[in-house]
Amino acid sequence: MKLDEAYSPDNIFAKILRGELPAIKLYEDENTLAFMDIMPQATGHALVIPKSPATNLLNLDPSACGALLQTTQKLARAVQKALDAPGILIAQLNGSAAGQTVPHLHFHILPRHDGLELAFHARDVADMGELEAVAANIRAALETL
Ligand code: 5GP
Repeated sequence: MKLDEAYSPDNIFAKILRGELPAIKLYEDENTLAFMDIMPQATGHALVIPKSPATNLLNLDPSACGALLQTTQKLARAVQKALDAPGILIAQLNGSAAGQTVPHLHFHILPRHDGLELAFHARDVADMGELEAVAANIRAALETL
């Protein structure tokens, strides 16, 4: 998708926001939603999205940036704690030339451990039971922040 592509309400994350598709949710507030990435590149790979319709960071209303970054920080802290990760990678891709595949703005939160390579981007669907178990640990960590 191009950086200036119009927002399509048919994208997967818009459907998750409307409750039309399931997601393993981690956190939700008035402006943002966090859930597990279904094809994780690392155990604990989480996504944070704004509820406002923006395809990428460049076209998000500036007034929505603060809430999005606050939720991203909150989830990064919880994922770090839940996975006991010595590193956290936060990634955010803009446009298909940058590798973006879902046209609703999102931050990736990826726990990193020394010597452990990331899995391929958006390739292998995880076992739902395993994702649920990791999500429960992240939700528990969120309660302790
Ligand atoms: P992007 O390539 O746009 O930066 O990242 C999109 C992410 O969404 C990928 O990491 C991919 O694994 C994830 N993803 C794609 N489809 C779904 C889905 O239906 N549910 C969830 N939870 N994640 C998805």
